[in-house]
Amino acid sequence: MSRIAYVNGLYVPHAEAAVHVEDRGYQFADGVYEVCEVRGGKMVDERRHMQRLVRSLGEIHIRLPMPLAALGVVLRETIRRNRVRDGIVYLQVTRGVARRDHYFPDPSTPPSIVVTARASDPARAEASAAQGVGVITVPENRWDRVDIKTVGLLPNVLAKEQAKTAGAREAWFVDKEGRVTEGGSTNAWIVTAEGRIVTRPAEAGILRGITRTVVFEVAEKLQLRVEERAFTVAEALAAREAFITAASTVVMPVVRIDGHPVGEGRPGPVARALRETFHQVAEVAD
Ligand code: PLP
Repeated sequence: MSRIAYVNGLYVPHAEAAVHVEDRGYQFADGVYEVCEVRGGKMVDERRHMQRLVRSLGEIHIRLPMPLAALGVVLRETIRRNRVRDGIVYLQVTRGVARRDHYFPDPSTPPSIVVTARASDPARAEASAAQGVGVITVPENRWDRVDIKTVGLLPNVLAKEQAKTAGAREAWFVDKEGRVTEGGSTNAWIVTAEGRIVTRPAEAGILRGITRTVVFEVAEKLQLRVEERAFTVAEALAAREAFITAASTVVMPVVRIDGHPVGEGRPGPVARALRETFHQVAEVAD
């Protein structure tokens, strides 16, 4: 089946979907994005993802290209036209097309909007989760506004490629104090020897992941304690469990850090329980 993308008001064949060479997303990474999980043909946590989109756009002074209700229609239509039951829907908004110049273009310049949807194999994701994944650690080298979900992802791309080369799934950025910030495209968590779930506060240094926010509620439902504080790589190596979270991977156990096993080197019960319970707590709207 041929894929369809939404580009600036039109549904077009994916293979022909394009934006102008002077789109500011292309020229300056001057834009933001969101990724929502699609499960059973429906978006997971759409409300929170749209809230974060509005925040990201506000932080870089791009206006919302259309009302949220209309955006919801476009997201659903893109999922429907691509017949995605399980997978992701991707949305990108940039400052639009204008003659290349660092200054913002004329305020009348319409933002560009692109939506794509892609299916993934749930069985493969479950197989990954049953095995767990490895992470490497790399020095934090990103700007300090990683709270904005910008398409400027070069440090993340380089770190994740380094992870792949090392046979790992994810790279954890580590700040100057030796504390883990987050992964290249995921939030980072550990479960201490005492059974406490620990993740870095979202006030600085990380993206406030939507999956992260929902996992707090999942933990509450399971009567598990979460501590919001930074943890070091040494603490992670001594932890009972570790895991990563993102809309595209939900809760994924981490079983190796820089080649060293975490706990017994197998997915642990806390990550498993959070993963199994996640969709009972996440919001799904029609
Ligand atoms: N941190 C970074 C840098 C990310 O790119 C992502 C997702 O893409 C996340 C965390 C997880 O965010 P979410 O749970 O909203 O997908």
